[in-house]
Amino acid sequence: MALTEQERNEYKQKITNIANSFQSKKANDHLRSRTEEAEGRLEFWQERASTLSWFQKWDQVLEWSYPDARWFVNGKLNASYNCLDRHLDSWKKNKPALIFEGEKGDHKVYTYKELHAEVNKFANVLKSRGVHKGEIVTIYMPMIPEAIIAMLACARLGAPHNVVFGGFSPEALRERINDTKSRFLITCDGAYRRGNLLRVKENVCAALKEADSVEKVFIVKRANIDIEIIGGRDIWYHEAMEEAGEDCPPEIMDSEDMLFVLYTSGSTGKPKGIVHTTGGYLTGASTTLEYVFNMKQDDVYWCTADVGWITGHSYLVYGPLLNGATIVMYEGAPDYPSKDRYWEIVQKHGVTILYTAPTAIRTFMKWGVSYLEKWDLSSLRILGTVGEPINPEAWNWFHKNIGGGRCPIMDTWWQTETGMIMISPLPGTNLKPGSCVAPFPGIKAEIVDKSGQPVAPGEKGFIVITEPWPSMLRTIYNDHERFKQTYWNTIPGVYYAGDGAKYDEDGYFWVLGRVDDVINVSGHRIGTAEVENILIEHPVVAEAACIGKNHEIKGQAIVAFVTLREGVCPDSDLVELAEELKKHIVLRIGAIARPEDIYLTKELPKTRSGKIIRRILRDIAEGRMIGDTTTLDDGFNLEEVMKNILVSS
Ligand code: ATP
Ligand code: MG
Repeated sequence: MALTEQERNEYKQKITNIANSFQSKKANDHLRSRTEEAEGRLEFWQERASTLSWFQKWDQVLEWSYPDARWFVNGKLNASYNCLDRHLDSWKKNKPALIFEGEKGDHKVYTYKELHAEVNKFANVLKSRGVHKGEIVTIYMPMIPEAIIAMLACARLGAPHNVVFGGFSPEALRERINDTKSRFLITCDGAYRRGNLLRVKENVCAALKEADSVEKVFIVKRANIDIEIIGGRDIWYHEAMEEAGEDCPPEIMDSEDMLFVLYTSGSTGKPKGIVHTTGGYLTGASTTLEYVFNMKQDDVYWCTADVGWITGHSYLVYGPLLNGATIVMYEGAPDYPSKDRYWEIVQKHGVTILYTAPTAIRTFMKWGVSYLEKWDLSSLRILGTVGEPINPEAWNWFHKNIGGGRCPIMDTWWQTETGMIMISPLPGTNLKPGSCVAPFPGIKAEIVDKSGQPVAPGEKGFIVITEPWPSMLRTIYNDHERFKQTYWNTIPGVYYAGDGAKYDEDGYFWVLGRVDDVINVSGHRIGTAEVENILIEHPVVAEAACIGKNHEIKGQAIVAFVTLREGVCPDSDLVELAEELKKHIVLRIGAIARPEDIYLTKELPKTRSGKIIRRILRDIAEGRMIGDTTTLDDGFNLEEVMKNILVSS
């Protein structure tokens, strides 16, 4: 079944050609034969799947009974085997798989062989304590190698992992344990963030007070602090590892067995437990990583996302390891010990590919270019972003100052639910700052109106995926009905992503933000991203977030929240500045987009993954009690923000 090297190269060339032709395709040529396309898609994914190692080949590529998909039906494989074992009989055995950079400057390298040994040992530890196939294991860890080891050890045993972001509160952790009824939890004693010690185990103890499903807690020693150990329940990781054997045969998993559940980041409301399965997910993660970042064997690849998010799952752990890449993992904050930490890491490890988020880029912009001067960033060759629309201003800054004008930026649109990058340029595509360009090969995404008809260039519509894809979510954990309602019912027949977008004249995709964030001013629909992009072009503005507040006459009125760049006009008249920003918008978009209020503030409320939470801004603007804040970043101090607010109208 496996292709020869030559066949694979020929096939890659063929696919690259297809990819390039997809990218330049005009948006409205949807008349192209769907049957032909569908066959092409299945063939593409089938070929991609065969680059993985299977214990048993599938009988059928796709079984599709809307909205339930089964990919690579009856195929058998194991995720950890694919990430590790299959690299061991080549030179890659001694290649660095993981370069860990601690916040304090300590670093540690694991070769593929070493990572394999650790994963096997920990899988044996888990197995001997009762973890078996199908058992959901919760992981609550900071960004340390053991987080990856734990995920792969679970995958080795066929035990789906439920990774909970290490910065989450006890409540958020408890909610996710209770939803999955986990019996096993993997965590650590403490962690470092900006030089501060976080008492992780204390959070765990607080969470477990009302989460009685948990029987065993494995604790990694990271901070070396005194913690309470509960006999019979708590187990030190390092002690258990001492006795564990280095050989743990991988469980033979069905392609459709659950690999993990992961809760969405909660920007819009209560997080949903998104379920991903094995064969299709791995195929999608591996293929997109290889193509979008043009992964080569000597690349040093750094994805700054936390393992607690889908980007951490697909592009810090599974995608790169499936490709046999060298990963950089950084424990801490970008401004610790100083605001050039990222650039120090790029130089130190010779990072060639850097995948990060618009929120980080806007922060670097706010800090200014002086932090870059000391460092040599010439190893970089490709940059990527994900998580929010990237404002053209931030795109240009990133391109010029980090990418030295030579590195293409892959603006990748996707979601926890999609499992893999769905809309993105490929290296070599003609780029437009702020556009995520076109669907990935093998993906059929469109922008449609409410009735499901494709919109014309320039018109606003909704992103939908019209054909199943391998790494699509299979369900919401414990709630298949909500899965159907949320994603498959808004526009019947297609997957509804909940994001607004438009095509330009060349058929390029421009994401406008979440559908809930489209503001309707006197019947004119204005995307939050449009107004924000204009605001951020103004030299004093670092970040901007717009929302619609209820308005008696207009229906909705625009309210803008703005943070200023560092060092900008410390004694300028803020009322005047707000007026100037309003004028700037009127000049660039028109009077219709003139904000009713502008709030100049020190910070914006963000999720812990760095996304602006607009529902909280809406609460502030409409003078309401602030709603659910469990997913709000710790650094955000509402009182502080309110004190520093200047409202003008
Ligand atoms: P929740 O669904 O719980 O509200 P969330 O949507 O923030 O949380 P994720 O799945 O992490 O959780 O984020 C996916 C969303 O992020 C997309 O729906 C989109 O709004 C936004 N997004 C991701 N990448 C991009 C991008 N390149 N351009 C624009 N928006 C993006
Ligand atoms: Mg979402």
